[in-house]
Amino acid sequence: MRGSLRLRLALWCGGIICGAVMVVALYGYAVHSRAHYDELDALLRNATEHVAGELDRSVGLDDRAHVLAAARGLGVGVALYDSLGNPLGPAAPTGSASAGDAPAVNPVRVIASPPRAPYGPLTALAPTARRAVSSRGVFGLAENGSQRWRVYVLPRPASMRADERVAPYVVGTAPLAELDASLRRVGLLLMLIAIVGNVLTFGTSWLLAGRALQPVLTLTEAASTIARSGAFSQRVPSDTPRDEIGRLAETFNEMLERLERAHATQVRFVSDASHELRAPLTVIQANLELLEHRPAMSPTERDAAVREAHAEAARLGRLVSDLLVLARADAGVPMRRDLVDLDRVVMDVLGEARHLMPRQRLEIVTLDPVVIAGDADRLKQLIINLVENAIKYTPDDGRVSIALRHTGGVADIEVRDTGIGIPAEDLPRVFERFYRADRARSRNAGGTGLGLAIAQWIARQHGGDIILSSEPGRGTVATVRLPVSA
Ligand code: ADP
Repeated sequence: MRGSLRLRLALWCGGIICGAVMVVALYGYAVHSRAHYDELDALLRNATEHVAGELDRSVGLDDRAHVLAAARGLGVGVALYDSLGNPLGPAAPTGSASAGDAPAVNPVRVIASPPRAPYGPLTALAPTARRAVSSRGVFGLAENGSQRWRVYVLPRPASMRADERVAPYVVGTAPLAELDASLRRVGLLLMLIAIVGNVLTFGTSWLLAGRALQPVLTLTEAASTIARSGAFSQRVPSDTPRDEIGRLAETFNEMLERLERAHATQVRFVSDASHELRAPLTVIQANLELLEHRPAMSPTERDAAVREAHAEAARLGRLVSDLLVLARADAGVPMRRDLVDLDRVVMDVLGEARHLMPRQRLEIVTLDPVVIAGDADRLKQLIINLVENAIKYTPDDGRVSIALRHTGGVADIEVRDTGIGIPAEDLPRVFERFYRADRARSRNAGGTGLGLAIAQWIARQHGGDIILSSEPGRGTVATVRLPVSA
């Protein structure tokens, strides 16, 4: 996976740079060669036209030979032709100074054939470096074996042809061999530079991609080690917190932290749950053994053993159903959304609580009519949990009061008691599963340690929360705040 990403990066990066270099090199070559060929054309045209003018002014044959020799000195061979395209006398193509074997050219055929450039299609793409075109003459190409010649045919105007001294065609030729060879060398050099440059570019891109991906590799290795070992306390290295990889490592570490906490909570929960389940089972088992092995027990002892086993079995049942509720909560099972008369639910809870025959005074102080959207059974369970706690942790001569108030779109259910209260250090933790401020008392009263956790989950599922305030020795107030939807 990493290898392919590295290769893709190197190919993309190297490919783009190489492509750009190739385009620049080819276009540069085209402009360069076009400039040289156009330069040669301009020289050839100027020399030919200059010689034609001089010939017009020359008087004798000597003069003419002198003019043509001067042109050869410039590297251009100039020859004269009759109107049928045959070479004329002393001005026949004797060649130039640089190449003595300029081919014979038929000017009539040059003019009749389509124009030919001395360069290929690539060079033709480059703009004309200089106005090498001519409105008076025609350019052409001539070949002699492996050598090429540039040809410029200048036809004399009809008005001048009446004068028999004026040759109908003046033809200039210039050898291309030297220019061709020089441009071939430049082309080869550019190709060599491009090949070496491309290899270097791909190599550098490969190395850079490898360097850039190294932190990802380190991160992946650290992450897979953690995934394999399950050691959520480990962290991946994040030495460069500013860049993208650093931020990824940071986010990964944050996730590990949460995972570690969740894992620890899970482990603790499983251990607490098994411990809580084992305790009543042990008591039930002990009592059953007692009943089995001591048939001669007094009826009072027997009753006590049966009662205790019964009570523990009931607690076991409560524990299992509470665990089931929390398992559903963890699984994210959605709650019903019906219209619920909260005042009726409070009255139901009060009726059930009275069945428990509490010795404390149990009363409703305020009961505003409130309708909220929610799950009636769950809301009932929430209020029962709070009322049961108030009864459990309040002495017999104490008082438990319930109030339901509707103010500003919020329903407040307040359960107030005059009981033992909760120490300040325990207050933030009593919503945790199995956490008890007073373990012995909770167990004796048949508590599971899950009541408040379930109550809080139900309140939050209804968009509200529970606020606990308590004063040890004086009492506790649990207020459930629920939004009342329109
Ligand atoms: P339990 O089944 O033990 O009552 P809860 O989750 O309902 O479990 O409550 C957690 C702990 O909070 C209790 O063990 C108890 O110590 C404390 N607590 C809850 N309500 C009250 C209350 N009204 N008065 C005093 N302590 C309370």
